[in-house]
Amino acid sequence: MHVSSSGYRGIYIDFDGIRHGYVVDGRFEESRIDFDDFIITPTLFNSHTHLGDSIAKDPPFMELTTMVGPNGYKFKILSSHSIEELRNALINEIEIAKDSGTRVFLDFRESGIEGLKVVENIDCVIPLGRPRNIEEAEKIICSGFAMSSVRDHELDFLFLLRKIAKSRGIVFAIHAGEMNCNDVEKAIELNPDLVVHMNSCPELLGSFMDADIPVVSCIRSNTFFNLMNPKTYKILSSYDKWLLGTDNAMLFNPSMLDEMHFSSLIVKDDWAIFRASINGYRIFEDRFGIRSGYIVFHREKNFKNAKNLISTLVRRANAMDIEVILV
Ligand SMILES: [Zn+2]
Repeated sequence: MHVSSSGYRGIYIDFDGIRHGYVVDGRFEESRIDFDDFIITPTLFNSHTHLGDSIAKDPPFMELTTMVGPNGYKFKILSSHSIEELRNALINEIEIAKDSGTRVFLDFRESGIEGLKVVENIDCVIPLGRPRNIEEAEKIICSGFAMSSVRDHELDFLFLLRKIAKSRGIVFAIHAGEMNCNDVEKAIELNPDLVVHMNSCPELLGSFMDADIPVVSCIRSNTFFNLMNPKTYKILSSYDKWLLGTDNAMLFNPSMLDEMHFSSLIVKDDWAIFRASINGYRIFEDRFGIRSGYIVFHREKNFKNAKNLISTLVRRANAMDIEVILV
């Protein structure tokens, strides 16, 4: 196997399927010759993280509300560390994920303006902030608002934030349907630009899909909290605005390759899993001005004897298979 003068050549897999060609000067070019030296894909896009809790790595198993509810386990740990400590911990986790091909992290920050400092100027992190009041919402500088469930905020405040986001042209994102349907109807009324979860409310999923609102699933996180629901993911797997994310960094490293491995077993549609792991570029490229790079996989380990490249990529490929990441 070699790198030709025209760059890395081989089989390119992206949202539209499989082609042959090469990556040269940071761009894929299709070729007439069916090269198969390397397997090349776009870098992966993690559409939902809370990177700030990386410091609380691998907590005991517990229920969702005990863990991340207001004043739960997570917030107690966070408040006992300095911003510097939180930042160092998350940089370590990001580096691991980047070495596994994840390029972008759409990060849902907490704790208002201070919370944003944890990810300030870190390449590849798109920060969405969580203002604690209207004054803060007017001042906070971020790519959008990332709110918890409607359960956890005053409704009037959320509707005002929605208005502010619209007038500033930034994203308004919200969690909904993680435990049940109780927080979903108000979330629909807010007409968000992005909704996270909905695993426990497949019956109302259609409202978001009809409105063309992107939906992020975090399948490992749902499983951690005993909230995993294949029925929902099945519906979403044919939705062209479906995204995947890894949720709390204290539970899992934010590497999308790992998320893909697990999700494949639950959803049993490898193409859908792959698309949802790069779909963020299609949906948010213009909004955040971010472009994908390329992951070049060699064929010496996991891709050796691969009978179905997309399935090997989604179920098995890992950092040891990466020849180079081009960004
Ligand atoms: Zn979340």
